[in-house]
Amino acid sequence: MSIERFYNFYTPICDCCEKELPAEESFQDAVDAKRRAGWKSRKDDRGQWEDICPDCLREERAGQ
Ligand SMILES: [Zn+2]
Repeated sequence: MSIERFYNFYTPICDCCEKELPAEESFQDAVDAKRRAGWKSRKDDRGQWEDICPDCLREERAGQ
């Protein structure tokens, strides 16, 4: 799960382009913010969770 914790703030970061969403005050708020912004959480090849922003999702689809 690519939500960076910085003191008491949680910042969603795209694993593809490293774009950030505004910091939230709880992990759950950060998850909700990602959902609202249209981000997608998925597992990569090694079984690690990664978060992808809508821009990267669009580029992936365009490239397929
Ligand atoms: Zn991205």
